[in-house]
Amino acid sequence: MSRVILVSNRLPVTIRRSRGNGQNLSMSSGGLVTGLTPLHAKSEGVWIGHPGETPNQETSAELAKRRLVPVEVPAREFRNYYEGYANSALWPLFHYFVERCEFDPMQFAAYRSVNERFADEIAKIAQPDDLIWVHDYQLMLVPEMLRQRVPGVRIGFFLHIPFPSSETFRVLPQRTQILRGLLGADLIGVHTYEYAENLQRSFRRLLGIETVRGELRYSGRNVRIQAHPIGIDTDELREAAFSKKADLYLLDLKRRIGDRQVVLGIDRLDYTKGLPLKLEAWRRLLSGSTRWRRRAMLIQLAVPSRENIESYHQQKDEVERLVGEINGLYGSPGRIPIHYMYQSVSKEELGALYRLADVAFVSPVRDGLNLVAKEYVATRDDGGGVLVLSEFAGAASELGESLRINPWDIEGTASQIERAMEMDYGERQERMRPMYHRVVQNDVHRWVERFMSALTEPEVEEIHFPPSLQSQVLAGTLAPQLSEAENALMMLDYDGSLREFTERYEDAVPTDSIIQILRDLGGLDGVKAYINSGRDRETLGSWFEDVPISLIAEHGSWIREAGEGDWTRMGPPPDLRWKSIVAPVLKEYAERTPGARIEEKSSALVWHYREADDALGEWQALELMSVLEDMLSGSPVEILSGARVIEIRQQGVDKGRAFEFVNEAKGPFDFILVTGDDRTDEDIFARMPEGAFSVKVGGGQSSARAAVGSPGSVRRLLRALIEARRGPAAANSD
Ligand code: UDP
Repeated sequence: MSRVILVSNRLPVTIRRSRGNGQNLSMSSGGLVTGLTPLHAKSEGVWIGHPGETPNQETSAELAKRRLVPVEVPAREFRNYYEGYANSALWPLFHYFVERCEFDPMQFAAYRSVNERFADEIAKIAQPDDLIWVHDYQLMLVPEMLRQRVPGVRIGFFLHIPFPSSETFRVLPQRTQILRGLLGADLIGVHTYEYAENLQRSFRRLLGIETVRGELRYSGRNVRIQAHPIGIDTDELREAAFSKKADLYLLDLKRRIGDRQVVLGIDRLDYTKGLPLKLEAWRRLLSGSTRWRRRAMLIQLAVPSRENIESYHQQKDEVERLVGEINGLYGSPGRIPIHYMYQSVSKEELGALYRLADVAFVSPVRDGLNLVAKEYVATRDDGGGVLVLSEFAGAASELGESLRINPWDIEGTASQIERAMEMDYGERQERMRPMYHRVVQNDVHRWVERFMSALTEPEVEEIHFPPSLQSQVLAGTLAPQLSEAENALMMLDYDGSLREFTERYEDAVPTDSIIQILRDLGGLDGVKAYINSGRDRETLGSWFEDVPISLIAEHGSWIREAGEGDWTRMGPPPDLRWKSIVAPVLKEYAERTPGARIEEKSSALVWHYREADDALGEWQALELMSVLEDMLSGSPVEILSGARVIEIRQQGVDKGRAFEFVNEAKGPFDFILVTGDDRTDEDIFARMPEGAFSVKVGGGQSSARAAVGSPGSVRRLLRALIEARRGPAAANSD
């Protein structure tokens, strides 16, 4: 296997001062360390991170022996980076606590500088064949910095916290730097599909980069965005939870608690964990029931965290005040309703608590995943125990059999807790068993395997850029085939393919030269020529009134064969109720975007912004797309962004279907040429039978077979083909 370079904010070891000037090294705990350690051992790579304490000579040698590379950062810079930008800007923002965010440019400067130190350190070590896996929100600029330093290397990035909605993310003053930072990676992993969706939407809205099925193109590379929820180390956890030591703890706890039901909360003391709301729900439950005051207790372990940050102090004070209040109100001698501990406990004690708890009460207001929920499940193969889980934890998408709560709904939460305590054993088992198997199967080692195999996987769905050809070269290939064809089809897009765009949409009337080409095409024996355009019937009808060419209007909604006067509808009759919802929105965006206009077609509405200011038009279009996507999800419409247009149209109607209609009615063809320049033409390109020739006009990604530079090239190509078909003597020129 390739060498893997792991990169995380902290190294997987803790340096502790011992007597005198000595230092001790111990392995840190936590799922990530356990998950990545076997990979570190197997790949013989290095692990790069901050060591916490500055290592002395002896410790440095020990670190080197374990292939751990410390990144040294001056204390002040580290504070501004870690407690500052990472934990006072990114952490609260990504957990939707906008009002807690501090956006201090000095802290961002420190964040950038520390990220640079990491990138420098990696670049010193990295070889072209290495795989580099960067972790979490503290190091979001590293992928791009590293890409600049070591261009060809493979980089994976994993975000262990939520990625918020694009509406929240765009609050961040350094939003574009952060997004571009991530785009240095080949693969970006997050915990849930929702976070992946949010990230893709931010790329689209803030950078104008489209993703196709979780993949995008940036700086000549493909970048993939995937959901890979992390797992836990079930073996290690179960070993501790079912150890002799844990058995003794459990016995002792049971003896002291007696027959009371135990509801367990294990949370780092962080405002994202929703402790005050949890305590309020517990208060609500007790206030309505003397029975539960006697028969239930909440054991709440609050694990100390980020004690150098002021808002964490405030959270601690508030939690302790609430605990005091509730115990004061509902306690009686020997019966306290909340057993609160502000400390961390050993793995064995933690395991004993999980085994003891009748109910686990996991109620974060936002959580990237939440390992506690999975850990509880992994100790409950007895099938007992009930998991009450916040819908705002990433783990909720995998643990569907839990009792879901919205922690803001105090009444609802209290009643779910009550339901959990009253649940019979049969239902407990029914819910817990499938979750147990899922958690055990998808453990942290599977997670590492999945991410690494995605990172090393060759790109399956490579984004295709058709080769760009000169029109003479293309004509040289196509002319002999056309000359021999008995039944040929040419299906030509109009705007942007046959005719250059104009400032104003209605000014792009066909030139004499275009009319001549179409006349000539229409006059060729054995060749069926179509204009397949998004324009409406009236416009096409009037422009090509006496040109002997067939017309398809409104992206495949209508067809008129050459020489016939009437239009025929293709596809199902439209359901256009969506138009009355969409029209006012388009109008509003047109009003606030000078130069933007709305066009109405029989089965579509189009928002044109070719005449708008470049940057403003682009910005408004991205926002409009996102508003429409939300508004119309589930409606029978499609939203397409074309060349400075957004078109909302009836589903089931597209240029590709029009092609199929013609192919069936007039085919089989032994020569097919189609041309097009934008997203709507991709519908045809994607359906081309083998041997057909599709030509994309202009650059960019496309499934067409070849590309040419401009409408001028298309016209030259068509003239050459007409000449070839007629024989040189009859050639026509303009
Ligand atoms: N944990 C711990 N010490 C304790 C109690 C819990 O290390 O005294 C662990 C717990 O086992 C879990 C982790 O802390 O693995 C908490 O992870 P979670 O995803 O629930 O929350 P996070 O702290 O990552 O926000």
